[in-house]
Formats: sequence, C-alpha cells, structure tokens
Amino acid sequence: MKLVRGAYMEKEARVAQQRGYKNPINPTKQATDDLYNEALRYTVAHVDRISLCAGTHNEASSLLLTQLMAQAGLAPGDERVWFAQLYGMSDNLSYNLAHAGYHTAKYVPYGPVEAVMPYLLRRANENTAIAGQSSREFLLIQNELRRRQGKK
Ligand SMILES: Cc1cc2nc3c(=O)[nH]c(=O)nc-3n(C[C@H](O)[C@H](O)[C@H](O)COP(=O)(O)OP(=O)(O)OC[C@H]3O[C@@H](n4cnc5c(N)ncnc54)[C@H](O)[C@@H]3O)c2cc1C
Repeated sequence: MKLVRGAYMEKEARVAQQRGYKNPINPTKQATDDLYNEALRYTVAHVDRISLCAGTHNEASSLLLTQLMAQAGLAPGDERVWFAQLYGMSDNLSYNLAHAGYHTAKYVPYGPVEAVMPYLLRRANENTAIAGQSSREFLLIQNELRRRQGKK
C-alpha cells in the first residue's frame, strides 16, 4: 500500500456538493496529519499482511515511521516498509533514510499533460506555501553552504 497525504481540496469539495455527499476534506491540516500517522500505526501493526510505501515529505511522519518500525522489532532494511519522496524534493530525507539503511525510493511522475497537470499544480501549490517544501529546502541548502564556507 502506498500512503500519501493531501487532497485536491477545491475539486473534492465541488464534486461532493454535486453528488450530494459530505465534503471529505479534513477541517485542518493537523487532522490530516493525525490521520496519516494513524494509518502508519495501523499498517505497521499489520505488516504481516500489509506492506507499506510511505510517500511523504513530512519529516515528523517519516521519523514516526522509523520509531514504529523499531518498536515493532522491524530492521531498517525490512522489505515490507519503504519510504519514497518525489524526484527533486526532500533529498535531505531520502539521503539520510537511505544512509541509515531504510529502503528509500525517488519517485518520478510522468504522463500526458492533461493527466499530470492537476498533479503538478498541487505540487506547485505545496512548494510555494510559506511553510512549504521549498522554503524548508532552501533553508537547509543555505545552512549547508554556510557550513561549507565556514570550513574553508
Ligand atoms: C512517493 C510519492 C508518491 C505520491 N503519489 C501520489 C499519487 O499517486 N497521487 C497523489 O494525488 N499524490 C501523490 N503524492 C503526493 C502526496 O499526496 C502529497 O500531496 C505530498 O506528498 C504532500 O504531502 P506530504 O506528506 O509530503 O507533506 P505535508 O506538507 O505534510 O502535507 C501537505 C499536504 O497536506 C494537504 N492538506 C493540507 N490541509 C488539508 C486538509 N484540511 N485536508 C486534506 N488535506 C490537506 C495538502 O493538500 C498537501 O497536499 C505522492 C507523494 C510522494 C512523495
């Protein structure tokens, strides 16, 4: 099972209204995070019959998954648990997880423009949010540049 977080917020709300069912969007980001983490807990608890790929750039969820694995007695290299980040995003997570022995994949989405456009727009939205991915990654890169310059 691949676990991902998030939603096409406006589209989901519109379709729910058109079809007359309850808007499935969570009231807050925290509620979404809680559900994602709950899904991690459930999956690790049932790892005997569910293998997991955690597709996330969220550091807290990635850390939680490593802790859940340790608590369940799963070695970092257990074949049933994988981490994955999108190519070009969160290399800091991918490289450190892989270095620590966790199975880690970089994920490259591709397809016809009309199919990938909504997907890419959501990525663009996530990357331009103030607390978003890019701000976090630029900070990490800046810190690393300063660290290297300090060494010279
Ligand atoms: C390896 C990999 C595979 C992926 N595959 C797919 C895929 O097949 N299909 C797909 O659609 N996406 C896919 N994604 C994207 C994924 O669904 C997330 O949009 C993206 O990873 C951001 O979530 P996060 O856990 O990394 O980060 P975070 O920054 O913790 O979460 C951001 C996400 O939270 C969502 N969010 C914020 N508030 C709410 C709310 N109130 N209710 C619901 N959601 C909210 C936002 O829409 C945003 O997408 C994939 C991601 C990865 C890394």
